[in-house]
Amino acid sequence: MTSFAALLDRRLVRVRAELAASGADACVVTHLPNIAWLTGFRGTAATLLVTSDALCLMTDFRYAAAVQRLQAAGRLPDAIEIDIVERAAEGRVARWLRRHGARRVGFEAEHVTVASLRRLERALAGASLLAIEHALDRLRAIKDSEEQRIYREAAAQLATVALRLAELVRGGETECDVAAAIDFAMRRAGFERAAFETIVASGPNSALPHARPSPRVLETGDPVVLDFGGIYSGYCVDLTRTAVIGQPTDEFLRLFTAVQQAHTAAVARVQPGIRGSDIDRAAREVLERHGLGAAFSHATGHGLGLEVHEYPRLARVPAEGADIDTFEDPVIEAGMIFTIEPGAYVPPLGGVRIEDDVLVGPAGAEILTDIPRDLLVLGE
Ligand code: ZN
Ligand code: ZN
Repeated sequence: MTSFAALLDRRLVRVRAELAASGADACVVTHLPNIAWLTGFRGTAATLLVTSDALCLMTDFRYAAAVQRLQAAGRLPDAIEIDIVERAAEGRVARWLRRHGARRVGFEAEHVTVASLRRLERALAGASLLAIEHALDRLRAIKDSEEQRIYREAAAQLATVALRLAELVRGGETECDVAAAIDFAMRRAGFERAAFETIVASGPNSALPHARPSPRVLETGDPVVLDFGGIYSGYCVDLTRTAVIGQPTDEFLRLFTAVQQAHTAAVARVQPGIRGSDIDRAAREVLERHGLGAAFSHATGHGLGLEVHEYPRLARVPAEGADIDTFEDPVIEAGMIFTIEPGAYVPPLGGVRIEDDVLVGPAGAEILTDIPRDLLVLGE
């Protein structure tokens, strides 16, 4: 079995190749999920400096003991230098980079503030700064064997929570109470915490894709959209099921069936080499055929990882002629993990969303959260 440190070293090799390709001889990594991915360190304050042959993690005294423990357990990259600092001031970063001969220094353009960039620029006088856009996001999107192992476990644990929805969701309770029960069940199932605020959207609220739990009481006849996920060994999983309290109307059943078919079509479309927009289109075409094109108001899916929304995004592309790069409309590759979550929102009838997490294999999607996705008919 490959050691964790060896896996981290492999991630580092990929990052260094990417840096070399973009013309940088060093990189300042400040986005914490990127640092966690590259080092295994998950504190709230850190800066990671990477050159072709050196690696330095700067963090503050609160994490000194945690870093030592990680290192002793072989949970940090082998050749990492640890610098415990009061704060990773740009001056200290610049001195380390100069000592390692860095001339063209990459920074994460999506994550650095203008103020911090200006300070770094002054401190690095003589060296040039190079915006690195999305390079790490793209690398992180392809999950290695260890990440896939964590995901299989995490998804199985989330599935156990989903299979208990019939006992957790009851008419007469408020959305807030149901959300708290789901959060508690996730903790009991081994999740560190919820990956995002659990959505329990009942009755008219179900027609709002991003409703927040309210004191509204679940009533007979209500559709209920239940969207929840947890963080497991640092990684986010995300699942949605739709329920109805008591018997559904024929009209609502038709809405549900359309979304279910859209979900099936999107999963079936997953395959390495296609674009994110191809998967989105597969779902959207089904809903359009049911006259629900306008009722599907969000993207079909998003990447999952150390963050709950990450690359790749499976969405419609803007009108033809627009400048579409492969970040906006990603090429699907084996090893990616993302959600498939078509929905339809028809006020005042209500809303439906069905969401699963899939791993892209060489031949297509492996559904990680593979439990029934029928309408949950719950007690009043
Ligand atoms: Zn979700
Ligand atoms: Zn989602």
